[in-house]
Amino acid sequence: MAGDEFVATGGCLCGAVRFGLREKLSPVGFCHCSQCRRVSGTGSNAVLNVPGKRFQWLAGEDSLRRYETASGWGTAFCAICGCPMPQPTPDGARMFVPAGALDGDPALRLAGHIFVGSKPAWVTICDDGPQFEAHAETGAAGG
Ligand SMILES: [Zn+2]
Ligand SMILES: [Zn+2]
Repeated sequence: MAGDEFVATGGCLCGAVRFGLREKLSPVGFCHCSQCRRVSGTGSNAVLNVPGKRFQWLAGEDSLRRYETASGWGTAFCAICGCPMPQPTPDGARMFVPAGALDGDPALRLAGHIFVGSKPAWVTICDDGPQFEAHAETGAAGG
């Protein structure tokens, strides 16, 4: 719809892929599992779990690529610059949106940390968000 305003926009490093978020910002959650560490290249990823109706691609969907492990765990990224990009949750109802892909510094609330049991010793969690050994309990990452 023309004239829609987004509460945040984002995209990849080369600018080919762009997206917008509507209504309200979901909180940012960190996953410290070994897969998210590899995909992010650092101690955890930082992701917003966004209801699908609040997410919109603005450009570059044809530049998206996806890699899936044998277990079906997957990651989406820009084919040109390699940045992690949003991808649908397994049930397709929501989108995982990398927080670092957002433009500027939107005022994100903190959801917490999952798979802290997999966290390497060189990562120190310095905030007071909730921490879960593996998956968060139902609802903890909502919003
Ligand atoms: Zn790109
Ligand atoms: Zn993870």
